[in-house]
Amino acid sequence: MAYEEPITDYDYKVENCTCAFCGCNCDDLVYLVKGGEVKGELKDGTIISGYVDGGHVVGVRHACRLGASKILEDMDQRLLVPMIRDEKGNLVETDWDTALDKAANLIANAVRPVFYGWSETSIETMHYGLELGELVGAVLDNQATICHGPSLQAVQNAGYPVMTLGEVKNRADMIVYTGNNAMNSHPRHLGRYSTFPRGYFRKRGRFDRTVVTMDPRYTDTAKMSDIWVGFEQNGDYEFYNAMRAVLRGKKLEKDIIAGIPKEDIESLVEEMKNVQFGALFFGLGLTHTLSKQRNIDIAINLIQDLNKFSKWNLIPMRGHFNVNGFNIFMAFQQGFPYGVDFARGYPRYMNGETNTIDLLTREEPDVFMVIAADPGAHFPSGANRHLTNIPVIQIDIHWGPSTELADVVLPGSFIAVEAAGTSYRMDGVPIYMKQAVSRPETARDDEWIVNELLKRVQKIKGIKPKVAGK
Ligand code: SF4
Repeated sequence: MAYEEPITDYDYKVENCTCAFCGCNCDDLVYLVKGGEVKGELKDGTIISGYVDGGHVVGVRHACRLGASKILEDMDQRLLVPMIRDEKGNLVETDWDTALDKAANLIANAVRPVFYGWSETSIETMHYGLELGELVGAVLDNQATICHGPSLQAVQNAGYPVMTLGEVKNRADMIVYTGNNAMNSHPRHLGRYSTFPRGYFRKRGRFDRTVVTMDPRYTDTAKMSDIWVGFEQNGDYEFYNAMRAVLRGKKLEKDIIAGIPKEDIESLVEEMKNVQFGALFFGLGLTHTLSKQRNIDIAINLIQDLNKFSKWNLIPMRGHFNVNGFNIFMAFQQGFPYGVDFARGYPRYMNGETNTIDLLTREEPDVFMVIAADPGAHFPSGANRHLTNIPVIQIDIHWGPSTELADVVLPGSFIAVEAAGTSYRMDGVPIYMKQAVSRPETARDDEWIVNELLKRVQKIKGIKPKVAGK
């Protein structure tokens, strides 16, 4: 693949770029740019400030394969011009005014609009989306509704003993991965944050840490761990309960618990009690097995129990680079992390009622706006069936199954490459993602598109835009 070859044919370097793929938000990338004109300051071939107008990223350093494959995008799949679906059912190219007016009219006249996605765009874009959602009484929801939603519910139930990835790098001497395969899903997590880096108190890096994988599958992460605990599928809740019982000084009555001999559980608990700083990272393998949010409740309770002996924290392995950002932003602004319903003029959040899949399955929405997400690829067919019956507005950079469902397509720009913005890493640390090159001339920034929709809907409804600071 092209990005495996050393790239020598480039004109400029842009340093300290951020990867907009997974929740690691690696912010040490170097983009190699060919062509274009520098709009900003250049020193020895490296962009100090600004971006390259008309340049194209031809190489990327420090990114893993997942990140690099996204950054070195396939332009064949790129959405470049606005489109609307004609009466024959074909998407036809149009101008921005026509597409935005059509989308704004659909939103302004909707009774039960849903705005779904947001996890691959900036917090700045979400600001305008929230204002628009409040104005028209929409439901705002993100991908947490189908991934770490149960984790967020558990945090509300049991608390959130969270840490930063910087603390992990500098302090952690035991790393536990459970229900996730970080080596494949977050490939630089071990190298940059948890296992291999040398930290202030962990000068020898990997040699100063014990790595444990608790997972029914012998994953690539399990292969490079010191200890693999392969409990039974759906045995998570029982296994964590057994660990808690041992921590509280109880004797285990069964010899085998969730497929693991009780002696192994006792010795693992003993090791976990005696570390200086433990870090547990859990993924959807824990969140979505039989006991769902109760698995996370019990994992949080386990961490709280361990804190009676040592210092322990946990972090969910968030997938999209800003899925955590939407949850933090919405919780900060409105008090609820996802599935927030403004239909009554104030925010409501009720799992099973105000989540996108439930709403679609009940055939409630009459307009659906999807931004930086692909429900066409990820939603169950029952939910997608309703999307074929209602107008769908898509804001995205790539053609995907959702484009086939869309009636209005508004091509956005690639955050962290063509547009700047803020995201929140999996540990809740905000990261500013800078722009490296200009966007395609015919596309627009997500932030501009959503703000433009807001202004047009305000005009249709005869509402004066808010004046900043008032
Ligand atoms: S680990 Fe995640 S954020 Fe880091 S380079 Fe890979 S895909 Fe990008």
